[in-house]
Amino acid sequence: MPLPPPPPPRAEVHAVTPGSPAARAGVTPGWRLVAVAGAEIPDVLAYRRELARGEVRLDLEAPDGTPTSFEVAWEDPGLEFADPIFDGIRTCANKCEFCYVHQMPQGFRKSLYMMDDDFRTSFLYGSFVTLTNLAEGDVRRILDEHLSPLYVSVHTADEDLRSDMMKWWSSKVQDPASTRIRDMIERLEPIDLYTQMVLLPGRNDGDAMESTLAYLASRPNVQAVAAVPVGLTDHRTNLPDLRTYTAEEADDVVRRVEAIQRRMLETRGTRFVFLSDEFYLLAGRPLPPREAYEGFPMLENGVGMVRDFLDGPLPDLPARLPTPRRVLLATGTLFAPVLERAVEPLRAIDGLEIEVRAVTNRTFGAVTTVAGLLAGRDLLLAIRPEEADVLLLSPNVVKYGTDLLLDDRSLGDLRTDLRMDVELGGTTLADLARTVLGDAGRAVTPQFGFSTHAVKEAAKQH
Ligand code: SF4
Repeated sequence: MPLPPPPPPRAEVHAVTPGSPAARAGVTPGWRLVAVAGAEIPDVLAYRRELARGEVRLDLEAPDGTPTSFEVAWEDPGLEFADPIFDGIRTCANKCEFCYVHQMPQGFRKSLYMMDDDFRTSFLYGSFVTLTNLAEGDVRRILDEHLSPLYVSVHTADEDLRSDMMKWWSSKVQDPASTRIRDMIERLEPIDLYTQMVLLPGRNDGDAMESTLAYLASRPNVQAVAAVPVGLTDHRTNLPDLRTYTAEEADDVVRRVEAIQRRMLETRGTRFVFLSDEFYLLAGRPLPPREAYEGFPMLENGVGMVRDFLDGPLPDLPARLPTPRRVLLATGTLFAPVLERAVEPLRAIDGLEIEVRAVTNRTFGAVTTVAGLLAGRDLLLAIRPEEADVLLLSPNVVKYGTDLLLDDRSLGDLRTDLRMDVELGGTTLADLARTVLGDAGRAVTPQFGFSTHAVKEAAKQH
């Protein structure tokens, strides 16, 4: 039996600019864009491309099905869309042995289980994609529309090893050529690529990592590589046996990468490969200085986040607080020792009691040590009601644009349950110090930019 045709793209209008052509045509939020210049539009990128042609007709439909059309000529129609992808987010064709979605416990919001792998969100938001689900038409579109830069999960340039690590489903791969990473990088030569390698001990690190980096460094369109250690949880039922890095193994990665960085600095004028903070923390090594991150191009991948947090002058610290204040700083077990040392100058302030609490992740398992994957229940298990006046959390524990933690508990829920104020602490030590001192009420920007990717980016893999 033939498959039913795909549903039409859902380009739902979220807002209409007052006085714009769309407003004059009577379009209001909730309407749907049906076509531009007579053609269905899959996403906001194609929408912008069509508008750039100059004179175009837009067809829209009200929620009750009433159609309307209007024309624009080199003019913004005044439409804002609820979602930039109209025809549904593309999902991945892989079954990576280290996939974070596969090792998530049940019961979280649906978006956290979404295995998105869409080159359009890579261009729009910087989310990492594997390219294995691209059809020939997608590659042509990336090139024709110059969707640059893209963010690509390479993991290894050894084709056999990549296939073994990522285990793509042949039924989901639209074009086998897309699974050959070297061919894809070379075909996409006009497109700047920021790449990442999720490193697994004894698998794609060591000499294999060095060969991959040598290959990537030979490609002019590869701008940088972020190397992050595999993140694991305790929920790996029926999944390959993987383990995390030991201190010695992490040290070996740092040593090899730093040697490559020195060579690359001489030959290409950039360190080119950057390690996520976890490698330095695991190896017990000092973090590189600020300049070694070259403007933090991969900050959201956990590369340089700790250095960025620590640097910068502290505000003037008072000798004493007008009213005594007990402040609890809760974070993941990996970052807690760094934070403990960083807040040392604040301990001299009279009237300020400050404690750093390393919170064990009971939701994903103690093996998950980053702050961004702590759920509300982990905090409730680690903190007693009223034991402080204020609890400060890492800004990346909440979903972008909301105050909801991974398990949909809100900061308000925590305030009620813990009977204390609960705030987000700040993305720099200076910000955190101001909040500790009571300069609350500032807007704090979450560190991870794209909501459905927050968990994967917090886990630094995809
Ligand atoms: S890690 Fe990403 S690409 Fe790999 S299986 Fe999971 S969602 Fe798909």
